[in-house]
Amino acid sequence: MGERFDHKGMLIIPNPHRQHMKEVDTVYVITHCYCPRGHDLISSRVSFNGFPGLIIRVKKGGKKGLIALSPVYGEKVRVAMDIDLQHDELVALHCPICDRAFPVHSACPRCGGEMIALFLGPHADFSDCVAVCNRIDCPNASLIEGGHLVAQSMSDAIRGDASQK
Ligand SMILES: [Zn+2]
Ligand SMILES: [Zn+2]
Repeated sequence: MGERFDHKGMLIIPNPHRQHMKEVDTVYVITHCYCPRGHDLISSRVSFNGFPGLIIRVKKGGKKGLIALSPVYGEKVRVAMDIDLQHDELVALHCPICDRAFPVHSACPRCGGEMIALFLGPHADFSDCVAVCNRIDCPNASLIEGGHLVAQSMSDAIRGDASQK
């Protein structure tokens, strides 16, 4: 197993899914993720490949439930609990502890939905967050650290397009 080190609430590990490819790549694993009031969403109630996952409350049209997300950045694993989510529908994301809504970071450049900020530190800092689209099945997510875009989960698709030309 490769080197692991903490980096502002993230674990950085070699990407186990890409070892067959030429490029040496890394994956980011979210180890802490906070609501606007500082509650940690990482829960040992769910585990993805041995890493504790994120649990977030979702709301739509008067219904609410919980979703569990993989803490591995870019891995689109989502498990819905107590709620049925339809492809393409928009949901609101709330803290499962205090019910505070997560703020909108920006508009989703892919689908026009809202990029919702999940904070990597307990102080609700937009320059240190993961932004995820609130449209079900939209693959867009951005990792923003120190105000700079560190990674964007759409990069795989972009790279795929480029290699076909
Ligand atoms: Zn909270
Ligand atoms: Zn989107």
